[in-house]
Amino acid sequence: MGVLLILVDGMRPDALPGIPAAERLMAESSYALDAGTVFPSVTLPCHMSLFHSVDPSRHGTTTNVYAPQVRPVEGLFEVLKRNDLHSAMFYSWEELRDVSRPGSLSLSRFFNGHAGVPFETADRQTTDDAVRFLRTGGADFVFTYLGWPDEAGHASGWMSEEYLRSVRVSWEEIEALLGAVPADWTVIVTADHGGHDRIHGTTLPEDMTIPVFLRGPDFAPGRALRDVSILDLAPTIAALLGVRAPREWEGKSLL
Ligand SMILES: [Zn+2]
Repeated sequence: MGVLLILVDGMRPDALPGIPAAERLMAESSYALDAGTVFPSVTLPCHMSLFHSVDPSRHGTTTNVYAPQVRPVEGLFEVLKRNDLHSAMFYSWEELRDVSRPGSLSLSRFFNGHAGVPFETADRQTTDDAVRFLRTGGADFVFTYLGWPDEAGHASGWMSEEYLRSVRVSWEEIEALLGAVPADWTVIVTADHGGHDRIHGTTLPEDMTIPVFLRGPDFAPGRALRDVSILDLAPTIAALLGVRAPREWEGKSLL
């Protein structure tokens, strides 16, 4: 029993209709296509909020530059480590190294989506590596990050042809990951924020709305969930792995 979290950077829920893998996962999951992220709807603040279950005004990272916490909130990776659970992280955007404190991860694998390697390639390398790891085991919680749709949104515009292609390809990666995960694991698929025109970061619904899929033994297939927040994911993962959420966490378990 474990949890795989897959996050696709900048993936809007209204980009998903017509993608067979997304429609299959929706039928197999409890899901929300109108879940909310936090403001500012920017990558590192949203990831910090996902893993610390507090608003950016509380964790203090309000841009893509990590800000050490003045009054630290314990994050998901630290909570799992304290409970002798193993976490692994596979990612293609280097700033994410700060979502956990040093010493919390059993494995961390970074494939640079900016160093002359197209994000599409970095995401594929990330996926292939995570698939190999999932098949051999060794962690209780695996976080996999795919970055290309955000890059495509900034380059060509959210909901543009190129952006929609990047989302479709991301679902090929998601299918590969779903195929590698042990049968008794829970899989969560989500995004950090959406986007509009060639930007994100505002309070517009296009930026603030994210999809959340939860597939596993504790989640009824095909059930639509209401009032889901990105802040709910850390409490849900903690509950799935049988550990107590810190009192300061602001989200709720979806179990
Ligand atoms: Zn992002």
